[in-house]
Amino acid sequence: MYQKVKGTYDLLPKDTAKWIAVERAIRNVSKLFNYKEIRTPIFEKTELFHRSVGDSSDIVSKETYDFLDRGNRSITLRPEGTAGVVRSYIENKIYAEASSISKMYYMGPIFRYERPQKGRYRQFSQFGAEMFGSNSPMADAEVISYAVSILKSLKINDVTVHINSLGGKESKMLYREALVKHLAPGINNLCGDCQTRYQNNPLRILDCKVDQENELLLNAPSTIDYLTNEDKTHFESVLAFLDVMKVDYVVDKNLVRGLDYYTNTVFEIKTSIANLGAQNTICGGGRYNNLVSDLSGPATPAVGFAFGFERLLLVLEALEYQGDIDYTHLFIIGLGDSVKEDVMQMTNRCRMGGLITETDLNNKNLKQQFKQSEINNARFIAIYGENEKLEGKINLKDKQNNTEVTIDKHQLYNYIVAELMKPAPSSCSSCGEEDSCDTCGGE
Ligand code: AMP
Repeated sequence: MYQKVKGTYDLLPKDTAKWIAVERAIRNVSKLFNYKEIRTPIFEKTELFHRSVGDSSDIVSKETYDFLDRGNRSITLRPEGTAGVVRSYIENKIYAEASSISKMYYMGPIFRYERPQKGRYRQFSQFGAEMFGSNSPMADAEVISYAVSILKSLKINDVTVHINSLGGKESKMLYREALVKHLAPGINNLCGDCQTRYQNNPLRILDCKVDQENELLLNAPSTIDYLTNEDKTHFESVLAFLDVMKVDYVVDKNLVRGLDYYTNTVFEIKTSIANLGAQNTICGGGRYNNLVSDLSGPATPAVGFAFGFERLLLVLEALEYQGDIDYTHLFIIGLGDSVKEDVMQMTNRCRMGGLITETDLNNKNLKQQFKQSEINNARFIAIYGENEKLEGKINLKDKQNNTEVTIDKHQLYNYIVAELMKPAPSSCSSCGEEDSCDTCGGE
């Protein structure tokens, strides 16, 4: 018996409807914000991630899936989505296209060799978005409101945006100096990783999962106290734009984010919905104004975010979100060998006309085929046996309206389409009751 690799999971057919509903919500909201989809490879040259995400980040130093291909090239399964998108943006000279701003989103698998637990896998999926070409605080605010709008469209309202600013190069340098000074007396009491980070990238210490409750870290200076005037104004404007768009946020002075490339705004979206446990961050993002030029492209400001699909689905599960309900329009029950060809012909005709149609392929009896029609959540059930064949008729049940008719078999498709086009009975917009509503007094 083969088993799946540790940290991976199967998305089974019974669960894909929710997944597809999430994808659809993302695509719909992306359209409103005018973002277009980009699809880049799931593996890239290893050095791309070292150069972009950073050698000292956990995901590059400890968590990548690296391998040599048959041409002896070092390849890495992508541990995040931004690096590949930026590589593609530069390689395809998207920056040279007419509009100075490029907005794009991606969805797909991401690989990190992490310790698996609920909501944390080694292969997981992210949806992410990137906006290139604007340094305006309006862009930061738009990106954050885009992320929040996706959650709202899925009726996930219990979310908080945690936001902070790291500032640009100058602010980051000033802060680094202050942090190093603050950490110096106690650095030997921190974990081994933090002691290495102290040399290479002290900011990363604030992100340490081992020492996160250590007093030294809790009392560390805040990045926003070291912002240059320009960076401070930028941050305040982002907050003001969020205010006018009524996006709720809290300024979280300890938020630094785990990747090296962030400058200025960083943010995370958290939820208190119970079944996520420690993994309550469902989205993370920020501005990265130097990454395009660091990867040899023209200096281009950029801002983006990424959501974890699996965590979104866990939240939706807690909210008992059903997604799109799986259904078929029609199930054709054929009884007897002599009707099989007609059944195949009718099934095909209905499918070609756009009806989701299913039939039995395994010679099941009447009762078993009814059962199958239930499993497929069919609205119409057509029954076609040897008698019907002789008479050129077919029996049709409408499960929604609880009616049954016998019609000419050639009319099957037209009849169903006509029934599907009939307007649904009017219902109360407040509670869903039919016609004038006594339940809630609505209309
Ligand atoms: P990051 O790229 O680390 O900022 O992560 C962005 C989002 O991806 C997080 O907020 C999570 O929702 C999700 N995520 C990160 N790592 C994992 C993982 N190992 N398993 C599942 N989801 C993850």
